[in-house]
Amino acid sequence: SGEQTARLVASRVLDVPDFPKPGVVFKDLMPLFADGDAFREVIDGIVAYHGRDAFDAVVGIEARGFVVAAAIAYATGVGVVPVRKAGKLPRPAYSASYELEYGEATLEVHQDAFTAGHRVLVVDDVLATGGTAAATLDLVERAGGTVAGFTVLLELGFLGGRQRLAPRPVHALLTV
Ligand code: AMP
Repeated sequence: SGEQTARLVASRVLDVPDFPKPGVVFKDLMPLFADGDAFREVIDGIVAYHGRDAFDAVVGIEARGFVVAAAIAYATGVGVVPVRKAGKLPRPAYSASYELEYGEATLEVHQDAFTAGHRVLVVDDVLATGGTAAATLDLVERAGGTVAGFTVLLELGFLGGRQRLAPRPVHALLTV
């Protein structure tokens, strides 16, 4: 059930204070990834929530999103498309920049990543302010995909990422 999956995520996340800088509490999901039974349950929970026929490709956001995306793609038989930090992709790419607390970040996707109209499930580990996700959803649409959903393992509700992404639906296994 959703409640069981939420409890599982809660039990496998480590709070790391002052990482990567003072005042930030980093939500470390490596213990969840490292626990085979827990990881499988979480991946199966995401697939069950959306339905296995609801998407034609999965996008993972660099870097921890790759782990989740690859597992969902394998479990459902669709392909995985990476959205990467600037300068990593070898062929022509679309870029989207967004504001960070200090400075700016840029994400990219290959221009030929999607077949027109492909329904794309976008996944990441943590939703914070939503800047990363907003840029990624924009890239998916510019590259011809249709956003079928956005799912994270953990949502930091107090940062308002969900509101920033509205009206596009956001699914989180656990919201704190
Ligand atoms: P944001 O763009 O603010 O929603 O940040 C989301 C991205 O940064 C995701 O790729 C997360 O992996 C990472 N991130 C942001 N804040 C945290 C946090 N407190 N703990 C872990 N990861 C975070």
